[in-house]
Amino acid sequence: MRPKIAAAAACVALAAVAAIVFWGAAQRGADAPLGKACDPDAELPTIGRSLDLALYVGRSVDEDLARSLASRAAVYFGEFGLQVDIAEPVRELPYRVMLPAPRDMPATAPQADAGAQAEKLLGRLRGFVSRHADEPGSAIRVVVIDEIAHEDSLAAAGLGTLRGLAISPALAPDRAGLDLREMFGRDHAPVVLLAPRGDPEADARVLAHEIGHALGLEHRHHPHNLMTQHEHGCAPLLDDDQAEIIRGALSDLQL
Ligand SMILES: [Zn+2]
Repeated sequence: MRPKIAAAAACVALAAVAAIVFWGAAQRGADAPLGKACDPDAELPTIGRSLDLALYVGRSVDEDLARSLASRAAVYFGEFGLQVDIAEPVRELPYRVMLPAPRDMPATAPQADAGAQAEKLLGRLRGFVSRHADEPGSAIRVVVIDEIAHEDSLAAAGLGTLRGLAISPALAPDRAGLDLREMFGRDHAPVVLLAPRGDPEADARVLAHEIGHALGLEHRHHPHNLMTQHEHGCAPLLDDDQAEIIRGALSDLQL
């Protein structure tokens, strides 16, 4: 009986997500997929483009969770006239953490070894980027994973607990003082990493924010904007300038 019950529960959950997604598309501000609108009266700019997401899941992340978070983000961008399609199949990665902390890589590394430490730290991410760079039919690669940076890793020591991270050298070459073009090469497709925390609305907001970075958007101070660095608790906005940047990014990337 158990598997049947589990399958039925999964179906109910999926139906609920579908219902939420549909409702969100139909009526901004009620139970929209990223939560109630921060400013229901704001006029939304229209981007008028489309974008594919290719989904990857870490070893212990459920595919359907990744799909449902991506769907929420897709409905959100849809409200701005950006049609986001999620490519199938969802691909599985053999690891739980993107930036690991090998035993021989302590958090407090001697300064002289910093270059070598960074090389080790980024090896898995670079491998992912280069292995998946040429896969057809995908624009932004979204990796939903247990942890972006292991708590003992240099990245966690420097950046804290990471819930989301975007690597988009062509469109946003500087992140956190790092030269991404130098680290990864200019030409690879944007990659977004997401470590969900069990709150689908908030997790999907983080995903949408990182997709914003992947499309070249920088942080904004306005509290209701998608690109604020603070948690919203509501579905944030894009403004006309940001819509223009996204249009330009999609043309530049020929997506
Ligand atoms: Zn950010």
